[in-house]
Amino acid sequence: MPTKNGSFKNGEKMSEKGSSAPPGGTGSGRPYRILVLGAGFGGLYTAVYLDRFLKDHPDVWITVIDRRNYFLFTPMLHSTATGALEPRYIAHSVRKIFRKTRIHAHIGEVLDIDLAQKTVETVHRTMQFDDLVIALGSETNFYGMESRLENVFTLKSLKDASAINNHLIRMFEKAYWEEDPESRKAALTFVVVGGGPTGVELAGEIYEYANRELLRDFGRRISREEIRVILVEATGRILPSLPEKLSLDALERLRKIGIEVFLEGRLEGYRDGVMEIKGLAPLRTDTLIWAAGVRTNPLTASLPLEKDGQGRIKVKGTLESPSMDHVWVVGDNASCLNPWEGKPYPPTAQTAVRQAKTVAHNIVARLTRKPERIFAHNHVGGFVSIGDNYALLSAKQFTLSGIVGWFLWNIVYIHKLPIVRYRLFSTFGLFLKVLFERATTEIDLCPEYEEASYRKPPEESQAGG
Ligand SMILES: Cc1cc2nc3c(=O)[nH]c(=O)nc-3n(C[C@H](O)[C@H](O)[C@H](O)COP(=O)(O)OP(=O)(O)OC[C@H]3O[C@@H](n4cnc5c(N)ncnc54)[C@H](O)[C@@H]3O)c2cc1C
Repeated sequence: MPTKNGSFKNGEKMSEKGSSAPPGGTGSGRPYRILVLGAGFGGLYTAVYLDRFLKDHPDVWITVIDRRNYFLFTPMLHSTATGALEPRYIAHSVRKIFRKTRIHAHIGEVLDIDLAQKTVETVHRTMQFDDLVIALGSETNFYGMESRLENVFTLKSLKDASAINNHLIRMFEKAYWEEDPESRKAALTFVVVGGGPTGVELAGEIYEYANRELLRDFGRRISREEIRVILVEATGRILPSLPEKLSLDALERLRKIGIEVFLEGRLEGYRDGVMEIKGLAPLRTDTLIWAAGVRTNPLTASLPLEKDGQGRIKVKGTLESPSMDHVWVVGDNASCLNPWEGKPYPPTAQTAVRQAKTVAHNIVARLTRKPERIFAHNHVGGFVSIGDNYALLSAKQFTLSGIVGWFLWNIVYIHKLPIVRYRLFSTFGLFLKVLFERATTEIDLCPEYEEASYRKPPEESQAGG
């Protein structure tokens, strides 16, 4: 049994010894191939640790596959959605991160995983593996409400953040000219559904963005009293995964700054710009952001491995699938029980990064026939930022709030960025945010770049000009 701080007594680290080391690698004549699926918190850090732990084993190949060419720092996504941080401060090229390592970045969609053949098919090619690390993350969970939700925003990607940012600006543009009072109200009512950390932080940021920044630009015809920010939570408590004191303090803070929090607010639908909550009158709003939960990646959920009720792959303490040797799972895809609580670890970046180190250690241990480790980590507290210059921190020994908490929150997160240059970028971005204003420029990231005018046939462009 691990101790409370996550270490093990008397060399209790060893567990799954006896599994055979696979062929290839370290001296066998052919390279040993480790494929890591996903370059998010779990996958990227697994690869970086593997590279570090395998310094003396050049015959081991490490390949990371991701559909995006960047690592996305999700804890700061809400800052990008509200003009506080530029997209490139939170999205970092994986090729750059891996440049001075032996890790090979393979940018392309994973289409299929064939566990029997030990192959992974991407849009580019089919690749063999000896060890597979699955870290494909999760997607938004609508809990079967898809057909009752129209035109809702989510916050999972850079594209989502840009879309929210643009929409918030456009709603102020709309309200600026709108004569009909009901339509004006709907444009200036911003609803976030989901009282977890993402929903709480996003609601706080939207409140600041609307009331401080956008109001300055649109203040001639829009007043503070017209702006409503509402947070809807289905249960009786926000931040249920964090310590109770922190969730009560956060609720108090949200209400104090002017955010309306609807607890026990069961959303029944959002159609034609009308939100329906059980027991309440229908409410018109042009903005509903769904931040109410995640479910595991569908590709992972479809694998013939033992899974939990939410489609996450069950793992042993070593983070290897009990259904198949040499298949390891980290982050949001793993259903790994906290040995003290008997419940799966929550899907957080902290968990993913810590699991990454354990998996990297165990793959190397298996290769070099050394003892493997069991993953055990006890979360001792929690953090949540609420708007500008305010965060709440709760650990066993202390609770912090206000600007000190906010600085610490930022330092902790920036420190987690994978390379020093990016830490500097983000620190710089945050100082800009404190010293200057948030941006109120729409971001046309233009993911559908084939629609860009430079690609149009000449006659069409000429006709336009
Ligand atoms: C807005 C937001 C805020 C958050 N804030 C916090 C926070 O403050 N603190 C915290 O601890 N956690 C936070 N989280 C949760 C945290 O981001 C996740 O728990 C963490 O990213 C999980 O790591 P992962 O490696 O499992 O997945 P991810 O980091 O999501 O990585 C998965 C990767 O797989 C890639 N991928 C998926 N499918 C495919 C495919 N078919 N082919 C190729 N590539 C694919 C994706 O592009 C992605 O890069 C937040 C999440 C969100 C969305």
